[in-house]
Amino acid sequence: MLCQTAIASGLGAIFKSTASAQQGGGRGAPVRYGPINKFSAPSDLRITDIRALRVAANFDYPIIKVFTNQDVYGLGEVRDAGNENSALAMRPLLVGRNPLDISGILQNVRPYAGPGRQGGGFSAIDIALHDITGKVFGVPVWRLLGDKKRDRVRMYCDTTGTGDPKKYGERMLARKKLGFTFFKMDVTTNFVGVKPGNLDSGGVPTDKGLEYGGELIAAVRDAIGWEMPLSVDASSLRCGTVPDGIRAARTFEKYRLSWLEDLFGTGGFWRWKDFKEIKGRCSTPLLTGEDGFGLEEGFQPLIDNRALDIIQPDHGTSGGCRETKRIADYAWSRERIPTVIHMAGSPLATIAAAHTAATLDAFIAMECHAVDFISWWQQLITGPQPFLNQGYVAVPDAPGLGVELNEPVVKEHLRRPGYFDPSTKWDDSFVGRGAGGPWPHFNVDGVWVNERTTDY
Ligand SMILES: [Mg+2]
Repeated sequence: MLCQTAIASGLGAIFKSTASAQQGGGRGAPVRYGPINKFSAPSDLRITDIRALRVAANFDYPIIKVFTNQDVYGLGEVRDAGNENSALAMRPLLVGRNPLDISGILQNVRPYAGPGRQGGGFSAIDIALHDITGKVFGVPVWRLLGDKKRDRVRMYCDTTGTGDPKKYGERMLARKKLGFTFFKMDVTTNFVGVKPGNLDSGGVPTDKGLEYGGELIAAVRDAIGWEMPLSVDASSLRCGTVPDGIRAARTFEKYRLSWLEDLFGTGGFWRWKDFKEIKGRCSTPLLTGEDGFGLEEGFQPLIDNRALDIIQPDHGTSGGCRETKRIADYAWSRERIPTVIHMAGSPLATIAAAHTAATLDAFIAMECHAVDFISWWQQLITGPQPFLNQGYVAVPDAPGLGVELNEPVVKEHLRRPGYFDPSTKWDDSFVGRGAGGPWPHFNVDGVWVNERTTDY
């Protein structure tokens, strides 16, 4: 009971600071949409192509463009460091479809999505379809998802890590001077292991090592202020057993973290029983989810069993706008679990996630991974600059995503030549499904035909 109260009070502090950010906008404020496109004919709208490019960055950004027969198009982004092919491979399932049939299309591509970067194609397609639909009806993406609960989205800032407490503090202070009001730091075996005796023979932090991890946290807290929200990513701390997880979470209790992230690594989101056991024996809030796809496939066991204090879907893996909202709404309405959004993508992916975040009842903050060390990052999209200002992203009210790619800047930073160049590479993927075509199948008379289509 004591530990539940402590957790509740810790989350309360987060909510207070988030709520204050909502004042002065959002609900009740008049929203002006752009002019309705009276030349569009939504019923006749059809997808004609899907193409991609890749921006070279800290994590590469695979960006897709879905074309239609009415000169309206949609942009989407595959999970950072993923591969655009996970979206392009869906081409035969999209071409010829009406892009306004978002649920129908997503239902068809869902069997080909999965955890980690496998969720990237589905998520990018979701974002692009919402962009198209918003443009067609003259409304922003957030309006397609629900009501706007906030005009701007709070961003939390990560930083590069080190095993030197003083340097760690200085680096985080530099992030604070950029205007950020929410912070996260990594505590890893590399940082903890800089001193002898801090890791056991298996590379797991000893009690002494965890205390040193605490020194790193304390140094950052001293630099940015103990009152500031600070979380710790423990995905590389190798506390992958329940007893080790309990030791880490208890050692860090005195630092009043906003959350302790990914104790079982980014892929350990399925270990709800282990999370639940640790959660019941410490007051440090626990969080995971950046590699989870879908409500039923990834998050439901964590939520139904109340195994965590906060969930953290990555908007580019969890399923994009519609599925991420579905996950977050379920978590809050069912178990009062709030949502943090993981983000290491481009400004386009960040804006897409901001539309989703704007509609969530219980949203804490979204991650920012590049703004402080990639000078051209903010300029990858059009619109008012800087779009990320003083630790917040303004939620666009223009139709669709409300932003476009800044073509000259994107072209300067392509991983490989080509700007949404056409390709026939994926024309014949998924041909094994269905009852027609040149491949082996049962025809309408129940006769097995086309036994062999190629001479070898
Ligand atoms: Mg993480």
